[in-house]
Amino acid sequence: YPAEHQRMVDAHELLGKLYHHLLLNTKEGSDALKYLHSRGFSTEGIRKFKIGYSLPEWDMAVKYLSKRGFTEEELESAGLIIKRENDSGFFDRFRNRIMFPLFDEKGRIIAFSARAIEQSDSPKYLNTPETIIFNKSSLLYNYHGARSEIRRQGYAVLFEGFADVISADEADVKNGVAVMGTSLTNQHVQQLRRLTDTIIICFDSDQAGIEASNRAGSLLVDQGLEVKASMLPQGMDPDDYIRKHGAEKFRADVIGNALTWTAFKLHYYRFGKNLQNEGEKLKYIEEVMNELSKLNNPIERDLYIRQIADEFSLSLEVLENQQKQLVQAEE
Ligand code: ATP
Ligand code: MN
Ligand code: MN
Ligand code: MN
Repeated sequence: YPAEHQRMVDAHELLGKLYHHLLLNTKEGSDALKYLHSRGFSTEGIRKFKIGYSLPEWDMAVKYLSKRGFTEEELESAGLIIKRENDSGFFDRFRNRIMFPLFDEKGRIIAFSARAIEQSDSPKYLNTPETIIFNKSSLLYNYHGARSEIRRQGYAVLFEGFADVISADEADVKNGVAVMGTSLTNQHVQQLRRLTDTIIICFDSDQAGIEASNRAGSLLVDQGLEVKASMLPQGMDPDDYIRKHGAEKFRADVIGNALTWTAFKLHYYRFGKNLQNEGEKLKYIEEVMNELSKLNNPIERDLYIRQIADEFSLSLEVLENQQKQLVQAEE
């Protein structure tokens, strides 16, 4: 890092250590710690991911880091403190929140994501803004921690939230990473591709998560990666699932039973459709037939065409003929 970057990282490392200490060892941090334990995070997990707590004070970071030789201008451009409007001085960006450090590829703290403890406190997550050391559309949470496991296991699990990454890690799924509340970008894909060519997408099972799975998976498939997608019960995220059903069931039923990309797309096209309705049924069949025409493997294509013929009592011959035309149009 150039000197200016290094000083920003140093400030984050110092503050991260203080937050972590406040959470684990002080009376002020005890409610935050109780909250994390009640959610099911273990002290070991809190240590591993260096989770912390920021006091409900306006100038803890300002004072702590000024005393250690950082100027207010430096801390402001690092995103840690904010200039007061109509007044002199600065105040802390993060107050009374659970602090999740975000690490770069070398495991150094370059930003924070801060979670509200009270339900009424909004936004739920407050992130460091873009700085010269933090670019959220290229950061994968836990990339440095998961790297060797991704290589070893031959695939990565992509989550929607970093709470899911931490839960999964505690459930012995240690090859998980997450985007930071953005869509998956080409930069993320390039980073993943350096480690593996197989990704299991395990996003939240709500409308937003399913749409995001479709977008992320399409991008990965277009870039030549092998993609699978996990299916969770409606309304759950991976963290919820692990808390409710346990680590073993998560590994076997969610990760182990992830759908192939084609099977996911068949599910995806069903969402929000009433297949009893003729028009919607025809639309569904058309979308599925288009999807199948993109497959390179004729056996896989044949398998799904038979499923469609069976399910909707259609003539296999008609479907096969139509598929031939679609495949020719693709070529
Ligand atoms: P929790 O279990 O603590 O509620 P989550 O991981 O389930 O967290 P989601 O609401 O599913 O949270 O959001 C997924 C990700 O999107 C979060 O990890 C965070 O990065 C991002 N995110 C969610 N809400 C916000 C917000 N209000 N502002 C910024 N980022 C957010
Ligand atoms: Mn979500
Ligand atoms: Mn979630
Ligand atoms: Mn959650």
